[in-house]
Amino acid sequence: MIPYGRQEVTQDDIDAVVDVMKSNFLTQGPEVERFERAFADAVQAQHAVASNSATSSLHLAYLALGIGPGDMVWTPPISFVATANAARMCGADVDFVDVDPDTQCMCVDALRIKLDAAKSSGTLPKLVVPVHFTGRSCDMAAIAALGHEYNFRIVEDAAHAIGAAYQSKPVGACEFSDIAVFSLHPVKIITTGEGGMATTNDADLASKMATLRTHGVTRDPALVAGPPPGDWYYEQHELGFNYRMTDMQAALGSSQIKRLSDYIQRRREIAARYDKMLVKLPLSRPPVETNDLSAWHLYVIRLTDDAPPRAEVFAELRKRGIGVQVHYIPVHTQPYYNDMGFGAGDMPVSEDYYERAISLPMFPTLTKADQDTVVQTLSDILTRG
Ligand SMILES: *Cc1c(COP(=O)(O)O)cnc(C)c1O
Repeated sequence: MIPYGRQEVTQDDIDAVVDVMKSNFLTQGPEVERFERAFADAVQAQHAVASNSATSSLHLAYLALGIGPGDMVWTPPISFVATANAARMCGADVDFVDVDPDTQCMCVDALRIKLDAAKSSGTLPKLVVPVHFTGRSCDMAAIAALGHEYNFRIVEDAAHAIGAAYQSKPVGACEFSDIAVFSLHPVKIITTGEGGMATTNDADLASKMATLRTHGVTRDPALVAGPPPGDWYYEQHELGFNYRMTDMQAALGSSQIKRLSDYIQRRREIAARYDKMLVKLPLSRPPVETNDLSAWHLYVIRLTDDAPPRAEVFAELRKRGIGVQVHYIPVHTQPYYNDMGFGAGDMPVSEDYYERAISLPMFPTLTKADQDTVVQTLSDILTRG
């Protein structure tokens, strides 16, 4: 089976992890700090806070921004469930903004219309979370302008987008947001096994996320009430979690991030090759890359009306050894969100996209021969008549 995504782990990666296993620190220690620094530098942010998953990092980010019961968080339906779930984990309410039909990123016009309506009904969101779907940045300048007008905070779900750019700056530089969150899961661009990273230029937000990551506990003399009675001393000021990354994971991340630009370059080549090879088939290819470079986490095709049904094409591809996937089932159609009153018909653009979408294999070590097999198999299935 040719999978849709696969990590690359080199001997250098393995050596870096083994070195940590022989050191004094296994869990969060000097390697986590080193990785945070390397990550912050790579995306040109002032601060980076590591955690054990992007889901945890989203939770920490929303909490640091003060999201809690009674607050409203808006996300797009085309995302992994974690984007919306993290708001529920804070006790906040969730609503959805439909996506752009070409990019499947949050649609700025849909957002503006929904904000207008929410203003009249007094239900404006406190936080909006655009998702850089497939690794392509949303229109952050436009979303940030609406943020100023309607007074909401912004977290970028950049799980797909390490290595991407927006207006000539790396995604994660947070020029148009409070915090950006990245995933280090093995199918994403670089990996730490499980892992997440939040970047920000706000020292206070970074410090809040770091404290919440470790039980809400601090040893910082500047933050405790009086002079500490001794080196053992710590204080808990709020309810936090154990969301720490291990030093072994961080060493893997530091080793992987060195190859970031090679990975993106390779993904871009694979995308360009798919673009050429798929031209004659009954499908829409991803929109062409603009000056805002994509990280190409996913290569999603959308079957057109003259193609066989998606479920049939998907099943046949899997049967013939092509490990395709669908990203994503619209979150508002999940039973958990149905119970809150959301359902099919609410987000027509997302739902139409979902009916047609198939993610083809896309990862840096995909060989030309394997890519040829993917295209040949897909072509056979689609043109069988
Ligand atoms: C993968 C992913 C997440 C969750 O990442 P984890 O590291 O697995 O918790 C969140 N949002 C999006 C868009 C993702 O693709």
